[in-house]
Amino acid sequence: MSRIFLSAPDLRGREIEYVTAALESGWLAPAGPDLAALETEISAWAEGRHAVGLSSGTAALHLALLVSRVQPGDEVMCSTLTFAATANAIVQAGAAPVLVDSDDASWNLDPDLLAQELKRRADLGLLPAAVVAVDLYGQCCDYERLVPICAEYDIPLIEDAAEALGATFAGRPAGSFGDVAIFSFNGNKIITASGGGMLVTPDEAVADRVRYLSTQARQPAAHYEHTEVGFNYRLSNILAALGRAQLKDLDARIERRREFNRRYREALEGRPGVDFMPQADRCHSTFWLTCLTIDPAEAGVDRETIRLGLEEHDIESRPVWKPMHRQPVFADADAVLNGVSDRLFDEGLCLPSGSSMTDEQFAFVTDHLVRLFDGG
Ligand SMILES: *Cc1c(COP(=O)(O)O)cnc(C)c1O
Repeated sequence: MSRIFLSAPDLRGREIEYVTAALESGWLAPAGPDLAALETEISAWAEGRHAVGLSSGTAALHLALLVSRVQPGDEVMCSTLTFAATANAIVQAGAAPVLVDSDDASWNLDPDLLAQELKRRADLGLLPAAVVAVDLYGQCCDYERLVPICAEYDIPLIEDAAEALGATFAGRPAGSFGDVAIFSFNGNKIITASGGGMLVTPDEAVADRVRYLSTQARQPAAHYEHTEVGFNYRLSNILAALGRAQLKDLDARIERRREFNRRYREALEGRPGVDFMPQADRCHSTFWLTCLTIDPAEAGVDRETIRLGLEEHDIESRPVWKPMHRQPVFADADAVLNGVSDRLFDEGLCLPSGSSMTDEQFAFVTDHLVRLFDGG
């Protein structure tokens, strides 16, 4: 059997049709009708917010920070348990990340820890310029807590929903909670444009400013007048066409990933020391990745033994994100910790979850997984 990836791109056949149509239309310039259409279609997944297509989720985060008025020298709080792009964008905006830990109930940014730290900092006059909350592995944060906590101190809340397109919390979609939110269409995300991202916001003026900054900050003059430094961050029309083809079956992709999550739970039901990423209250996760933790004392086997055992059969799995406070590049960053992300990194494993995985491949994965837990 060929290698089974953690989350391989899922091509369902319409991509060629869409990309060919875009090429035949002649819209090879970055802007074009497919880009506008993708923005409209993503907007429908984010409560009708204004959407701006960008070259990556990281570019979208960078501009999200700039339009939230983050200035060089500021501090920005973000989840420590995330992919590096979240913290990288903060540094790219000239700010310093302050890394905040997760809670056990959701693995997402711990609202109590955030509230406590903001209160402490408010007393010292050291409030951050923004908070970036990450919707981890397809599950939204508890925005009924996070939104009022940030509002109390008038701090912009940026939602990094790169991993959570299509998820909901309390019936509302990922991307609809932050003052600004971002999605990613990178190769391993739930839909891909082979590369790309989107910024969404309820504020039309913010969306206009993001469009302007992402296209080199050109003033409307025939000779291209520039009054500030811009970026070349716009998503291309051809890639937007690819993203549109993928977005067509987003519901089916989510359903497939959720089915794998159910079946993994069934396969490992009752095993001591094995816990799946909790499904937090009122969250409808896409299970972009199915993740579990393995307590070696109870399970009799540790995470690395399972991961390397799968690897021997050409099955890709991956430790849960290494928290940013443990990354050499962010070793000097301020961090507000409670031990949760450290434990998740030590014990957590992400399992193959791609929607293009066949039933046969999935059975191959679960067979080996069960065998490894049984000690062989
Ligand atoms: C993938 C990802 C990003 C970055 O998106 P790109 O499109 O790869 O730049 C940002 N944040 C999180 C949490 C991600 O998983």
